[in-house]
Amino acid sequence: MTYQTTIGLETHVQLATASKAFCGDRNAFGAEPNRNISEISLGYPGTLPFLNERQVEYAVRLGLALGGEINLRSTFDRKNYFYADLPKGYQITQDENPICWGGGLPILLPEGTAPAAPPRWRTVKIHHIHMEEDAGKSIHGAGEAFSRVDLNRAGTPLLEIVTEPDLNSADEVDAFMSGMRQLVRWLGVSDGNMEEGSLRCDVNVSVRPAGQAEFGTRCEIKNMNSMRFARQAVDYEVRRQVNLLEEGHTVRQQTRQFDPATGKTSALRDKEDAHDYRYFPDPDLPPVVLDPAYVAEIRAGLGELPWQAYDRLRNELALTHDDATLIGEDRADYQAFLDYAAATPRPGELAKLWVNKLLPYRREHGSLPAPPAAVAALLQLVADGTVSAANASGKLLSALLEQPERNVTQLAESLGLVQNTDSDFLTNLVDEVLAEFPAKVAAYRGGKRGLIGFFMGEVMKRSRGSAEPKTTNQLLRDRLG
Ligand code: ADP
Ligand code: MG
Repeated sequence: MTYQTTIGLETHVQLATASKAFCGDRNAFGAEPNRNISEISLGYPGTLPFLNERQVEYAVRLGLALGGEINLRSTFDRKNYFYADLPKGYQITQDENPICWGGGLPILLPEGTAPAAPPRWRTVKIHHIHMEEDAGKSIHGAGEAFSRVDLNRAGTPLLEIVTEPDLNSADEVDAFMSGMRQLVRWLGVSDGNMEEGSLRCDVNVSVRPAGQAEFGTRCEIKNMNSMRFARQAVDYEVRRQVNLLEEGHTVRQQTRQFDPATGKTSALRDKEDAHDYRYFPDPDLPPVVLDPAYVAEIRAGLGELPWQAYDRLRNELALTHDDATLIGEDRADYQAFLDYAAATPRPGELAKLWVNKLLPYRREHGSLPAPPAAVAALLQLVADGTVSAANASGKLLSALLEQPERNVTQLAESLGLVQNTDSDFLTNLVDEVLAEFPAKVAAYRGGKRGLIGFFMGEVMKRSRGSAEPKTTNQLLRDRLG
């Protein structure tokens, strides 16, 4: 029997706000433990939360980017449970009326990544997005008979993005998480750093016999903060559930954890239902009521989104999938690339130079001193055969980045990089070389065609590297043939 895999994700994004979700404590990763805390983060009785406006703005921005419907009146609820790193004894979240309903994240299908194929997107459906706060962190040190608690993270603003059960493989989970990471960075709402826990997800997995209409029973694997582990966890969980069904057992709905050391998942607890948390409206926080004009303003400021940027690079500038992915990864880099592309009729050549040289330089130094017109002129010199591609992307570009105000052609001349296409000059050199190596000429004529490289090398040496290769090659073949 064959089985179908169904996956739904609950993705948590930590927002890059200056302060926490419901108080002015600093929101920063990596501080000394228990420094960014006040009475509110600590959940002291009698304290009152007040909402961080920036959290709302970021939620609306992400919701609109994903094509969701912003809820103009959303409310906060308390989700009650006891845990050492949850000092209030409840988490403030949105249960009944989240900030955003619906929408979806486009992920690229493999057949749309082939060099000649147009991009093919599939939109993974999103159920809703809600605002909430993070808990603190419990640290269970190896060999320690006690746990440590760091409450710096308590109250960090989070968005939870809950998908429909609309993913079908570990590859799609990877594509979704990568796409989400890119999007939150693009929108400036989060650093998307998975190692630091800024982006993590709970993975719900079920299997069912192919053709069965209802979904199978799902298990939820908690807190995946690495793409590689998420993949391994999905693969393991699918095998485990299929084996259970094959052996005539049923899958129990559970919350499970993944162990990177073994690559296996194990049961944490049988899944609690919503009523176990005794959700109820938070009496300390009034409803969040948004003016449609506020939402419209955020929508107007969205600009081009990552999948639109990728499509433009593929369709309008005819770049390959690999180049478009790299160039369209980061918003500021992408916008800089467009400025350079607007100055040249050779986007393909520019893309190569960008990926290999200009983008790494920009990332290291924060900007590119050479103006778009100068880079366009450099590409033109290569197209004309005036400067070799290797010299252009090497010596000439390096010089241009150091002296961006110089004229590119003059710079090439002063560096001795202008290739010689003068056929009298080249013919003389060719004849000189052929006269010097009569045995090699005979061997070439006798069929050792590989010797062309040797003759090229000799001409090149005598021209001190200035011989334009195409012209030289043609002259050699004419003379030898
Ligand atoms: P709960 O509120 O109990 O956590 P939800 O209905 O909110 O349950 O679903 C949580 C996540 O589980 C969602 O991402 C959803 O898409 C996913 N999900 C629901 N049913 C299944 C299923 N049968 N198989 C896989 N994923 C599922
Ligand atoms: Mg849930």
